Amino acid sequence: MFKEGLMGLIAGFVTTFKHLFRKPVTEQYPEYKRTLPARSRARIILTRDPDGDERCVACYLCSAVCPVSCISMQSAQRQDGRRYPRWFRINFARCIYCGLCEEACPTLAIQLTSHFETCEHDVLKLVAEKEDLLVNHGGKSHEYNFYRHAGVTMVGDKGTHINEEKPIDLKSNLP
Ligand code: SF4
Ligand code: SF4
Repeated sequence: MFKEGLMGLIAGFVTTFKHLFRKPVTEQYPEYKRTLPARSRARIILTRDPDGDERCVACYLCSAVCPVSCISMQSAQRQDGRRYPRWFRINFARCIYCGLCEEACPTLAIQLTSHFETCEHDVLKLVAEKEDLLVNHGGKSHEYNFYRHAGVTMVGDKGTHINEEKPIDLKSNLP
């Protein structure tokens, strides 16, 4: 028992001794800022599609999946039938940056960025409205356009839309 304790003590001192000769790894933040990976999860944005339209269709999926219920919005509809959020709000004071909203979003509208310097003294300043969230670019996926795939309205018969397969005749599956 005594021998094991002594060995543990010596191993601890050896580790400490080894670190005495290592180059320090201190980074002088904020003078030096490390480049974070593109998939870092911090400040959230709402992106636009390649046509410049806002991608969000106010489907409420992000709001439903958010574990801390910090996303709220109200849906509205344009003349051409396209949905959009009349207002969209994220309370960053509650957000845990889990990324679930981004995973759930069918239009790639909501995206987490690597911008993490968002601290505020006044907690109410952490409530972001749509004007604060909406950017003028497509974020991580510039080319994706949900409406080019899904369409605002059905054009033609089933199975004739771009990238859509012909409907299956259920009776053909019968034995
Ligand atoms: S990152 Fe997580 S906690 Fe933050 S808004 Fe999205 S789902 Fe909610
Ligand atoms: S951000 Fe995405 S998931 Fe959230 S309401 Fe808009 S389209 Fe739906």
